[in-house]
Amino acid sequence: KVLLKNLKKSYQNTQVIKNINFEINDGEFIVVLGPSGCGKSTMLRMVAGLENVSDGEIHIGDSNVTKLEPKDRSIAMVFQNYALYPHMTVYKNIAYGLKLHKVPKLEIEKKVNKAAELLQLKELLHRKPNQLSGGQRQRVAMGRAIVREPNVFLFDEPLSNLDAKLRTQMRFEIKNIHRNVQTTSIYVTHDQIEAMTLADRIMLLNKGEIEQVGTPSELYEKPASIFVGGFIGNPP
Ligand code: ATP
Ligand code: MG
Repeated sequence: KVLLKNLKKSYQNTQVIKNINFEINDGEFIVVLGPSGCGKSTMLRMVAGLENVSDGEIHIGDSNVTKLEPKDRSIAMVFQNYALYPHMTVYKNIAYGLKLHKVPKLEIEKKVNKAAELLQLKELLHRKPNQLSGGQRQRVAMGRAIVREPNVFLFDEPLSNLDAKLRTQMRFEIKNIHRNVQTTSIYVTHDQIEAMTLADRIMLLNKGEIEQVGTPSELYEKPASIFVGGFIGNPP
């Protein structure tokens, strides 16, 4: 469970997140959708602990993590610029976080192999990032997140650097991975198709406020405003 309670964020005198209250159920896949500058990344970075909150609380599971360091929050993030370590093999890139946490070698091997299977990376484990395609690199970034077995996955436009065909393919893979691991996920995008295909529920953000929350079909069939209709492609 993830709880956002009276969450606010200001930079200087501008409020970019305005009192967000939201509860995410265990295993739920939430897509945060909204136009450029509406505060999607800011909200996600606060959940990750990469940005302080100005006010309010963030709970993950039973703990209030508002003041905790990112490493103590049981989250894993996949960004748009999934910087891999260029000098390390795919295997080492995926294993890196586990090694840092002093996970025993045999256990690392088991987890990396399991993730590689799920992500179709088994044949590529010995390669370096510059010997991979964009989609394969994105899969390595996903693998790095998966092996940590976090309570929550955070995605910030992870597919926006990929071409249209790869984006479609990765969308299916992310959906598939979620079916397998069932990790609570918050996925930021401004792509309606991604939102409609991936989400259990969509949170539509507008200027730092929740405009509407619902399943993709609820938002499509009952848009609460012209803004929602315009975004989901079915204006009232
Ligand atoms: P995009 O879809 O373009 O990534 P976004 O919804 O992720 O947009 P944010 O990055 O969360 O938007 O930014 C929300 C607002 O906060 C924007 O107006 C942005 O200019 C502002 N902002 C973000 N970071 C800072 C900062 N460090 N200092 C001042 N303003 C900031
Ligand atoms: Mg952003």
